[in-house]
Amino acid sequence: MLGAGGLIGADRAQGGMTMPDLGQVFDVLVVGGGNAALCAAISARKLGASVVVAEHAPKSLRGGNSRHTRNLRALHPGPTDVLTESYLEEEYWDDLLRVTKGKTDEHLARTCIRASQHAPGFLRECGVVFQPSLSGTLSLSRTNAFFLGGGKALVNALYRTAERLGVLILYDTEVQHLDVEDGFFKEAIVSYRGFPNRIRAKSVVASAGGFQANRQWMREYWGAAADNFQIRGTPYAQGTVLKDMLSGGVQQVGDPTQFHAVCNDARSPMEDGGLAMRLDCTPFSIVVNKNVERFYDEGEDTWPKRYAIWGRLIAQQPDQRAFAITDSKAVMNYLPSVFPPMRANSIRELAGMFELDADKLEKVVADYNAAVQPGSFNGQELDGCRTEGLTPPKSNWARKIDTPPFIGHPMMPGITFTFLGVKVNDKARVMMADGKPAANIFASGEIMAGNILGQGYLAGFGMTIGTVFGRLAGEEAARNVRN
Ligand SMILES: Cc1cc2nc3c(=O)[nH]c(=O)nc-3n(C[C@H](O)[C@H](O)[C@H](O)COP(=O)(O)OP(=O)(O)OC[C@H]3O[C@@H](n4cnc5c(N)ncnc54)[C@H](O)[C@@H]3O)c2cc1C
Repeated sequence: MLGAGGLIGADRAQGGMTMPDLGQVFDVLVVGGGNAALCAAISARKLGASVVVAEHAPKSLRGGNSRHTRNLRALHPGPTDVLTESYLEEEYWDDLLRVTKGKTDEHLARTCIRASQHAPGFLRECGVVFQPSLSGTLSLSRTNAFFLGGGKALVNALYRTAERLGVLILYDTEVQHLDVEDGFFKEAIVSYRGFPNRIRAKSVVASAGGFQANRQWMREYWGAAADNFQIRGTPYAQGTVLKDMLSGGVQQVGDPTQFHAVCNDARSPMEDGGLAMRLDCTPFSIVVNKNVERFYDEGEDTWPKRYAIWGRLIAQQPDQRAFAITDSKAVMNYLPSVFPPMRANSIRELAGMFELDADKLEKVVADYNAAVQPGSFNGQELDGCRTEGLTPPKSNWARKIDTPPFIGHPMMPGITFTFLGVKVNDKARVMMADGKPAANIFASGEIMAGNILGQGYLAGFGMTIGTVFGRLAGEEAARNVRN
């Protein structure tokens, strides 16, 4: 194996100081610069491999979607300093089965669930700091450990550790093609700061995320609607490596039309707006599309169980627009939005602010008010306050919208990530379409999450998959070189 000593901090060249030696053959090339990639890079380096990380983003935007995260989900047999009570394998597995409706690979899922117990400890060793358990809107303090300072702090800690260990980090480096023959990776064709180059390595770990920010690719499944999808995370999720691998003989997993999406504020940036753009007003509102039609039961279930269906629902509406309508009674029931809501003294005035048909909106609100049944409102739990004779119904938290100022939030779909990915085995080794394992190709994170998340989502599981399979992929890639 090559020593890595001479490489320490070499891409301080990012600051223009030194030029990395791309003529050498590295032990491990890691493609991507988010949590999964860095966990792989650190793990491979700890086993003595020389490691280069190719991150498409510039340094200031490094870290992919991982930079936007807050927590990961971890198995624990008893309380820890950051997790309350216990969360055992069978409950974790049941939670996964429920959200995926069985679309998962049980062996890989259980491998991930078991290893998740050690994920917080591993990240801690890499400098990540966790915060004491929280209680809050998503009530995740039992199952999920929160990163102090969020994903940005996590990513910074991982980069610091990788650099300290001697991993070479190349920013502004887009991997465009992996040269693979009969399941054997030879070299990567890259654009290094805008110039063509190549990186040779004995093993490769693909951790380049999903393809949600590639509108042209998304249009193949969603048509022009894809142009109205707000991408919650990194614009570098172009899926270049994913597409290249799938067309180069790697086995595919996951449904290309599936993605995780939430309802964002329509005024959010089209990319990289992050978590704070999400709107949580739905259960305490009625939601209409631009034709002023309600299209789903806003009070079907508690918000943590339903927040992730609304992105897709809005994606299916005309112009991918929706409007949450409520009144002054509701505003203390949900997290305030970053962009202030529209406020009006009448429903007609509110309709005008959104350029909606005012007669229609008045009728929709009047019909809804007439259908609301008496009940005892409780915003903290399913309260049974519902409508009668309305289609679609509102099954909980139905209160009359009658107390000015009337409140409106404009909504658009916010896409978190896509589910299409590459098939891996329980050593994070990529499987080829002919059913054989690749000789020296591994994958971790979003790019292979579809093996375990065939549909649906379990909060905090994305970072768990990235950490667990990142470690596995890095270690196996390093061992592969040694053998
Ligand atoms: C707003 C938001 C909040 C979230 N919150 C959570 C949470 O709290 N908990 C949780 O578990 N999950 C959360 N997720 C999901 C989570 O972000 C992902 O599951 C996780 O970050 C995936 O890690 P990754 O390393 O695979 O991908 P990413 O972190 O997206 O990293 C992919 C990397 O690949 C790079 N890349 C892409 N293409 C190329 C190329 N061709 N060449 C070189 N580099 C390339 C990108 O620049 C990027 O650095 C959230 C996502 C978003 C958008």
